[in-house]
Amino acid sequence: MSNPDQPSSRRMRPCPTCSKLSTEENYPFCSTRCAQVDLHRWLSEGYSIPVVETDESEDPDLDEFRD
Ligand SMILES: [Zn+2]
Repeated sequence: MSNPDQPSSRRMRPCPTCSKLSTEENYPFCSTRCAQVDLHRWLSEGYSIPVVETDESEDPDLDEFRD
C-alpha cells in the first residue's frame, strides 16, 4: 500500500528550472519541458564564457637578451 502523502525514502530533488518536485521519469526535472529549458540555458551560458586572451606583449626572445 502506497501513501501518496508520504514520499518514499528515495531522495526527491526540486526541479532546477521551476523548483517543483521532480519526477522519477524526468529526474532531476519535473517534466521534459523543464529539462529542455535547463539544457537550453546551459548551452547559452556555455557560449557566453569569456575567452581568455593571450598576452601578446610576452615575447620569448626578450628573455635571451636579459641574460
Ligand atoms: Zn520544472
